[in-house]
Amino acid sequence: MIYQIDNKTYKDNKVDCHLHTSLTDGCQPIEEVVEQAKKNRLKKVIITDHNSFHDPERIKKLNKKDIIVEQGVEIWTSFRDENFHLLGYGLDVYDKKLKNALQPAIEEKNRIAKEVLRKYEVLGIKMPSFEEIRVGSYRGINHYEKAYVGTKDIAMARHIVHGIDFEEAVCECGDKKYTGVDTPIIKVRSDFRHMGTLDAIKLVQGAGGKAVIAHPGFIFYNSENSEEENWGSLAEMFDVCNDNGLDGVEVVSLWHKKEFSYDFFEELKAKTSNKKIERHKKLIYDILTGLQLLTRGSDHHGICKEDFQMDKLLDY
Ligand SMILES: [Zn+2]
Ligand SMILES: [Zn+2]
Repeated sequence: MIYQIDNKTYKDNKVDCHLHTSLTDGCQPIEEVVEQAKKNRLKKVIITDHNSFHDPERIKKLNKKDIIVEQGVEIWTSFRDENFHLLGYGLDVYDKKLKNALQPAIEEKNRIAKEVLRKYEVLGIKMPSFEEIRVGSYRGINHYEKAYVGTKDIAMARHIVHGIDFEEAVCECGDKKYTGVDTPIIKVRSDFRHMGTLDAIKLVQGAGGKAVIAHPGFIFYNSENSEEENWGSLAEMFDVCNDNGLDGVEVVSLWHKKEFSYDFFEELKAKTSNKKIERHKKLIYDILTGLQLLTRGSDHHGICKEDFQMDKLLDY
């Protein structure tokens, strides 16, 4: 059965089920994200910050007649050494088990952020303090030059989170492409391991929610594996997750190819000359069509992630 979170088809471009705010690595407060959604005439948005929740009272206030605002969550998970993001929808945000399980990832990010700041300080490079850039349950330093001159512009100072990769333990905060100036790239060691994808599915469902694999096409980004290997990993992940009660998949995402209208189904249907890839695709296609939820989400982050804006998905 194919339906959107609100029983509409996943092709409904008036619903966006995947957006981030400055609670994590987006660069707008939730109120601003909702305003932008209203301007774009969206009927419904589901805020899915990384491993973190907004105060439900704040969400309640945002629910006005002309737009529905809900919150879910996006959890970092790993399956056989491959990273997958799992979206949780309709869950109890007060669920203790879920919250406790998400805490270590938040703490590790905070630890790395502090360590990055300390290393800049040692190098004599001026940065905002950890407290200055503290955002909700999450903390970060940013990629923007503004922060380097110690501005109190918190909105611009919210973006380190994406610059840190747990596996590589590399922060690109010093990368010229983010700052426009030459500052050293800071590396911090991290042995953190994300929770398993199956554990995350259980946690989300234990909190009364639905578990949805985010942007499967994400696997092809910056991957050192061959296309065939990546399709194989996807097929295996979907197969096992499906056996373990997975509820859905984010079919339309800006992570997917524009030539297929960002629709992963279209990509699955496209023929290739590689027989193994064809087999993997067929398996994934069959699993996906049997899932309860097929969703659509921009992965909006605001100006700090140029390619991921809710506006970009509107025409598709
Ligand atoms: Zn994601
Ligand atoms: Zn996301």
